[in-house]
Amino acid sequence: ALEIGHDLGRALLNARLFEQERRLSEELKALDGYKSQLLATVSHELKNPLTGIVGHLELLEGADVGEAGPSIAAVHRNTLRIRRLVDDLLLLARSSDPGRRAQREPVDLREVVEDAVELLSVQATVGGLEIVVVAPDTPVCTSGDPTDLERICANLLGNAVKYSPDGGTITLTLDHGPEPDTVTLVCEDQGIGIAPEEQEHLWTEFFRSSDPAAEKQVGTGLGLAIVARIVERHGGSIDVSSELGRGSRFRVTLPAC
Ligand code: ADP
Repeated sequence: ALEIGHDLGRALLNARLFEQERRLSEELKALDGYKSQLLATVSHELKNPLTGIVGHLELLEGADVGEAGPSIAAVHRNTLRIRRLVDDLLLLARSSDPGRRAQREPVDLREVVEDAVELLSVQATVGGLEIVVVAPDTPVCTSGDPTDLERICANLLGNAVKYSPDGGTITLTLDHGPEPDTVTLVCEDQGIGIAPEEQEHLWTEFFRSSDPAAEKQVGTGLGLAIVARIVERHGGSIDVSSELGRGSRFRVTLPAC
């Protein structure tokens, strides 16, 4: 009888713990949703007045502003910086909102890559960079939100361009596998590279390398955090291998469809 009582006590305790855990996880989810909502609302509210400010600054570009020229240019530069941050905050809120029902449709990643290359081709050419795409002749399909998947590719390619100040080649490779029912997108550059101790922090919001060569580039530290959220929501994974001064290689693995 003692043993039965003991087992019953343990079962009750387990049930109570399970219930507590479930409630806690629900509360955390609600808090997460609230955080994303707040982030989205604040960013959205900032975006409208910013658009007005940038518009007026652009009007001033051709005007005779006399001695105020350098000050206006500085205000313009900094306003564009804030706008970049607000845009990234909106994307972060969108990619981490647990309440958002993600759009799902079969997407051929070859088209996603093509769009990202088109978006960044001018910047790459200006930087003396060549972009090479290696992809099979047949579709490389995953199920997901096309806009989100394009964001993954554009952010990785954008970084490869930004952190390759001495030119070189950027290679985007699409493939099936190596694990069954997966597809991979690899973005490889010959740029400044990332120190080993910094690599695990890349997916954290606002992380930027302390390497002077990286700090020279304008950025928000949100690009890879956005990429990591989107990859996670699509049931995939991302990893990086990199060597300082030699280049970086980002690999995204997604479920095939
Ligand atoms: P941002 O580029 O806006 O600073 P990201 O989240 O995209 O933010 O990247 C975080 C940091 O990771 C960057 O500041 C940079 O130091 C490093 N990084 C990202 N991609 C590369 C790359 N391809 N080569 C070298 N460093 C990179």
